[in-house]
Amino acid sequence: MSEEKSLNFIEELIEGDLKSGKYETLVTRFPPEPNGYLHIGHAKAICLNFGLTQKYGGYTNLRFDDTNPVTEKTEYVNSQQEDIHWLGFEWKNELYASDYFDQLFGFAIKLIEKGLAYVDHSTAEEIAEQKGTPTVAGKASTYRDRSIEENLSLFNSMRNGEFPDGACTLRAKIDLTSPNMLMRDPIIYRIKHAHHHRTGDAWCIYPMYDFAHGQSDSIENITHSICTLEYVAHRELYDWFIAQLEIFPSKQYEFARLNLTYTVMSKRKLLQLVTEGLVSGWDDPRMPTISGLRRRGYTPESIREFCERIGIAKRENLIELGLLEFCIREDLNKRATRAMAVLDPIKLIITNYPADRSEILIGDNNPEAEDKGGTREIPFSHELWIEREDFMEEPSKKWFRLAPGAMVRLKFAYIVKCESFKKDENGGVTEIHCTYIPESKSGSDTSGLHVKGTIHWVSAPHAATAEVRLYDRLFSVESPDAEEGDFKEYLNPLSMAVIERAYIEPHLAKAEQGLGYQFIRKGYFCVDEDSSPDRLIFNRTVSLKENWKPN
Ligand code: ATP
Ligand code: MG
Repeated sequence: MSEEKSLNFIEELIEGDLKSGKYETLVTRFPPEPNGYLHIGHAKAICLNFGLTQKYGGYTNLRFDDTNPVTEKTEYVNSQQEDIHWLGFEWKNELYASDYFDQLFGFAIKLIEKGLAYVDHSTAEEIAEQKGTPTVAGKASTYRDRSIEENLSLFNSMRNGEFPDGACTLRAKIDLTSPNMLMRDPIIYRIKHAHHHRTGDAWCIYPMYDFAHGQSDSIENITHSICTLEYVAHRELYDWFIAQLEIFPSKQYEFARLNLTYTVMSKRKLLQLVTEGLVSGWDDPRMPTISGLRRRGYTPESIREFCERIGIAKRENLIELGLLEFCIREDLNKRATRAMAVLDPIKLIITNYPADRSEILIGDNNPEAEDKGGTREIPFSHELWIEREDFMEEPSKKWFRLAPGAMVRLKFAYIVKCESFKKDENGGVTEIHCTYIPESKSGSDTSGLHVKGTIHWVSAPHAATAEVRLYDRLFSVESPDAEEGDFKEYLNPLSMAVIERAYIEPHLAKAEQGLGYQFIRKGYFCVDEDSSPDRLIFNRTVSLKENWKPN
């Protein structure tokens, strides 16, 4: 990006801290909960956290926030790592909040010993009732003033599995009158007899998010713990634990999360789409997950560019999906090999081109690339496939493509004139007959003819075939989360269309996974991972048309 780009508020803060000598080394972390696949919102947090230490030195840890045994899985840990690497980032240490269970337990003991935590047998309902409201002070639980010895003994009993789930909790003893409800004696440990993906059955009590996150940051000497705005109210508690425990003073800073139009962005909701079979999996090309975007044909560069463009703000906003599409279009325009593919084919016969003849034409692979991407050979013959929509029996006024009597250029080839066409019994056009002008060959045209329209085509006897999957937005409303009722009611029923048999240039039969291709006039495509040599499958990454323009 341009050098004079102004600093975002977190960069300003960090530059100040580094200048004043408050920290020697910048340390950030990306802390996903391994309860699903990462999505484009996480990409924003990844680019921010890793981007800062790339810019200012220091390092970024990857810390799995795995304090909730029920929803977490190793499959998610692996996919999250793969996605961060794919985006182009490298963490210094791979860490797990569950690695700190012993230390966190020790911190809880320390709080009890300081008279700042107590075991409470109240039920969840009772605790909720005692909490009060922001303007009405909470009431003390009857267990609030137990002795330190009793609390130590009960907490050890909790840890030793002497109580069933929900029988009691450990609560911090803070301030029942605080206007911040989170400070009204928050629960810091709960009993859960559940198997954990890493610690197995070693624990039956698990720390709450607020008791694990800041302390984990502190254990790792994280200088800037960056999270989304929902955690603003948690900051007071974050600071309180660190101060009472007298540990490394990590600091929390909040930025606005990414919201995208026509998208839901919560792992919990994305999981519903997967488990209810509404998409083919976490990496369905319509999903806003990083793996879905990858399968759809997005490049890491385009996603990083998108994150750079949206920037870092302190206020929530809604970003247009069009911006993400703009970024991948710009990127693929530079890298994608061009090719011709006919998605809705109709036969075109060139009556004055001998049926037993064919020739090889030459096309640039990428006129937008500096080296033009080299050239390729394109066979031409008597029988071609063209796009059904490029012919009109009764053309409208500004129609420059094929119509009875009209002329058009075949890309990389000749000018042809439509002489006649055939219809089936239902009135559908089945075949178009043209003559070609031999002197009009692209690159050596001496015909003196000027035609306005150019269409793409594929030589029928040489064509390869492929399945082509076209995608549209997954939801039909801008903010599915803001609508009434279940977000799944707003799924776009037309989000995927499958073309069973498209005709493609023969060289595309060797198309490689992981590369982008531009099908001229049709969009950018990539080879899907379901593809095989016998059955080629392309995904449309994005159409060519821009309906979004940068300011
Ligand atoms: P989800 O509801 O999708 O699971 P989360 O915040 O619970 O989101 P985590 O795995 O806890 O997911 O998030 C890891 C990091 O990614 C956190 O620091 C979080 O703030 C950040 N993050 C999550 N969603 C977004 C988003 N939409 N925009 C920016 N950052 C996000
Ligand atoms: Mg979370």
